[in-house]
Amino acid sequence: MPLLVMKFGGTSVATLDRIRRAAKRVGREVANGYDVIVIVSAMSGKTNELVGWVEETSPLFDAREYDAVVSSGENVTAGLMALTLQEMDVPARSWQGWQVPVQTTPVHAAARIEAIPTDNINAKFAEGMKVAVVAGFQGIAADGRITTLGRGGSDTTAVAFAAAFGAERCDIYTDVDGVYTTDPRISSKARKLDRIAFEEMLELASLGAKVLQTRSVELAMRYKVRLRVLSSFEEYDPTAGTLVCDEEEIMESNVVSGVAYSRDEAKVTLISVADRPGIASAIFGTLSEAAVNVDMIIQNISEEGRTDMTFSCPTNQVARADRAMQQAREKGLVNFHDLVVDNDVCKVSVVGIGMRSHTGVAAKMFEALSKEGINIKVITTSEIKISVLIDRKYLELAVQALHDAFGLEMAG
Ligand code: ADP
Ligand code: ASP
Ligand code: MG
Repeated sequence: MPLLVMKFGGTSVATLDRIRRAAKRVGREVANGYDVIVIVSAMSGKTNELVGWVEETSPLFDAREYDAVVSSGENVTAGLMALTLQEMDVPARSWQGWQVPVQTTPVHAAARIEAIPTDNINAKFAEGMKVAVVAGFQGIAADGRITTLGRGGSDTTAVAFAAAFGAERCDIYTDVDGVYTTDPRISSKARKLDRIAFEEMLELASLGAKVLQTRSVELAMRYKVRLRVLSSFEEYDPTAGTLVCDEEEIMESNVVSGVAYSRDEAKVTLISVADRPGIASAIFGTLSEAAVNVDMIIQNISEEGRTDMTFSCPTNQVARADRAMQQAREKGLVNFHDLVVDNDVCKVSVVGIGMRSHTGVAAKMFEALSKEGINIKVITTSEIKISVLIDRKYLELAVQALHDAFGLEMAG
């Protein structure tokens, strides 16, 4: 039997009515002759509520208990989806992650899937079950504790199941009808892409476009999963949505294919650090041990053997970074005069594989920002992206200006 994976995000299962709508789509694929694995998220807002409860109960929470609590949202929707399908006479059964079992690393709140044995679910398909409903976002570590895969992790569950079961396609149903040139909530000129290359999607996701979790794109790229993003609210259309695929399958090409942003960034500067070999290693080693995700880095020009070192990280990791650096200073590992935090910045990036063969993208980006009077605080580049750190109040303006400057509302 050919097999499909269909994933429904939080807004697509937000109410019993929406679960019914999603179940109807699943029923249609079953009628088309597919066995289906449905991956569900928690009802919209549920995971945020659960995270809030954990933080209120225990600010420096034990991550194992965080996972025990926040994974529960998906258990509810998995059971409800199976019941809804049964009511529609579609033979269905639900699985929580541990029952499959979805085996993961023991890194709580940020676990990675290591293996998905297929026998358990396949045995049920062999008995006539048509739909396996699996709770997304969760797994089990070797010590038997429940883990979660990081926010947005149900996307990754879906792609991992598609790879493990050799699915014909992995359809990600969400509240937008595909991947756009930028977040359609920020720019009304955003254009839906029919296709996007894995590498571009990977960059967009890791630079903040939350329509797909980064890890899900990595897995799809590695295991050659045909990945499609589409709306669960629109009428059924087999060619709808955006296909994430190999570069070779794409005809249209703009030099820049998308603009991504990440709102909650902070810029941290260590003032007057001794400029000597080993200093960067001491600073970033300390931050890495404290689990701070450092993104951009700049080292200023040194004067009289001292320099300023600036880095960016998510705003909710600033307190941890500060504590780690103060402790390192007390131990004599690093010597700096002061630590200055700018919490009101954001990161805006342009992405496109066309950048590999075109020059002048950076100049055009900086010109567009300067025309709007936006000051750039930090710049980083890679082969297919350019990112800048700017004041957060300019986020929308910068995204729109770059979208215009690179002519993204028009197909290439
Ligand atoms: P789900 O709950 O279905 O997983 P998410 O909220 O995680 O949905 O992701 C969908 C959201 O991603 C959209 O509502 C949209 O605001 C946002 N988004 C950001 N960048 C993009 C983009 N380039 N294309 C489409 N959506 C985007
Ligand atoms: N419910 C989880 C979250 O909100 C996982 C997901 O929806 O993908 O992060
Ligand atoms: Mg999501």
